[in-house]
Amino acid sequence: MTQIAECPECGNVRGLFGKCPHCGSVSLPNVSTDTVELNIKRGLPTVEEALEQLTEYLRMASELGIKAIILIHGYGSSGEGGRIKWAIHEALENNRYADRIEEYYYGEQVPYGTQACQALLKQRPGLKQYLKHFKAGNAGMTVLLLGSTRRSA
Ligand SMILES: [Zn+2]
Repeated sequence: MTQIAECPECGNVRGLFGKCPHCGSVSLPNVSTDTVELNIKRGLPTVEEALEQLTEYLRMASELGIKAIILIHGYGSSGEGGRIKWAIHEALENNRYADRIEEYYYGEQVPYGTQACQALLKQRPGLKQYLKHFKAGNAGMTVLLLGSTRRSA
């Protein structure tokens, strides 16, 4: 899925994170959406690398004004992808990212068309384009809602 981010230096379309592939600028891109998809498996990280990358992505996403992230971590059946999924679930449940993440929904909890999903879309309409394909839910992803303020729960 394409993401709408533009390099502030050269004006080319670029990825959200990291350097501009066109001019090498490390400035934060100009972003015209508040909902992005992030594949945490890209680059085949170990579990610990994936958890650390997520910390970094969440920091940058907050700076970019992102309000919701579709985190793609793969299914929990087997292999490194499965370990990353369960580690992310555990980290979320242990509030590892609670300073950035206000709420989270596992893909299997919000099948498109259900009440849970409708309530979520009411909060963050930008998620619709990502969720509408998954009428049976998608256990390979987690929806992260970012808050602007620290929540004491
Ligand atoms: Zn550039």
